[in-house]
Amino acid sequence: MMQIHEIEAIKSILATPKKITIVPHRNPDGDAMGSTLGLYHILKQLEHDVLVIAPNEFPDFLAWLPESEKVLIFERSFDTCKAILEKSDLIFTLDFNALHRTGDQMENVLKTLTAKSVMIDHHQAPDGYATYTFSDTAYGSTCQMVYDFIHQLGLENLINKTVATCLYTGIVTDSGSFRFPKTTSATHKCVADLIEKGINNSEIHNLLFDNSSYNRLLLLGKALQNLKMLPEYKTTYITLTQDELNEFGHQKGDTEGIVNYGLSIKGIDFTAIFIEHKEEGIIKISFRSQGDFDVNQFARKHFNGGGHINAAGGKSFSSLDETIQQFIAILAEEKK
Ligand code: 5GP
Ligand code: MN
Repeated sequence: MMQIHEIEAIKSILATPKKITIVPHRNPDGDAMGSTLGLYHILKQLEHDVLVIAPNEFPDFLAWLPESEKVLIFERSFDTCKAILEKSDLIFTLDFNALHRTGDQMENVLKTLTAKSVMIDHHQAPDGYATYTFSDTAYGSTCQMVYDFIHQLGLENLINKTVATCLYTGIVTDSGSFRFPKTTSATHKCVADLIEKGINNSEIHNLLFDNSSYNRLLLLGKALQNLKMLPEYKTTYITLTQDELNEFGHQKGDTEGIVNYGLSIKGIDFTAIFIEHKEEGIIKISFRSQGDFDVNQFARKHFNGGGHINAAGGKSFSSLDETIQQFIAILAEEKK
């Protein structure tokens, strides 16, 4: 929960109409888009001038979210977005806890702002940039935190079907459809309430997960063919080269979730996917674990990343082959 004096301060800011900008992390996922749009639909009902500015494009499988078409893309409309950020009275940063998670360009603008800011986030090791911080790694999603934040502000009457649809999206995506360990009775109570607001939970699930292109399934097939086992480390990993992505007409979001297949093998408790991004000159990596192995620490220490204990990401500036060699060498080292 946010501290009472912080809630009171935020309430008094929101007491009169304000210019408010809400920001998710770069490469926003279901929780980032669901939480920013959920809060957006609350604040709009209070007559604030509200905008969501995402650092870069969001994937197509989220493009049905209510008013996602109004989300501005910083890296596409740099000057407009910079001007809006500079004129904002209040900035919300949702589902991330370090400004570099918005990318170099947007970080440079956010760093210069003097407006008050609110961070709501559930990742490990928050930076201290925000005026008001609601950071709690016990939550499975930022959407569930926004739900509690709305209650703390006494605005729960504003949670309508639209808001509930957005918040449900982040809860279902970040919890792996309610199966990850941070899914609690509080999560299910929250979802029960969202369903009572009239959301069509089954349809949302279909929109999120049963909306793939044919090519996406073929890409998944390719990824599974590339799956490698390292039984001595209870580890699996998947690679996808840029050529393989191109072969299947890769669209943003197509690789989302593929990493999880690596954990579905009996006896495996650590997995990674390495995806080549030729244009950016990086290998983007996702890590997943089951149990105590802390992939947030692993990603931070070895691959310029971070995240949660059982789900984290990072990047490498070496080639794909070199990155895999490094990965295996680190496993051998850590096992000792
Ligand atoms: P994914 O593997 O699904 O991209 O991300 C898993 C989790 O790790 C997400 O919560 C995401 O925000 C976080 N994450 C992914 N990539 C990075 C990264 O490069 N740096 C940090 N700090 N966190 C990341
Ligand atoms: Mn999240």
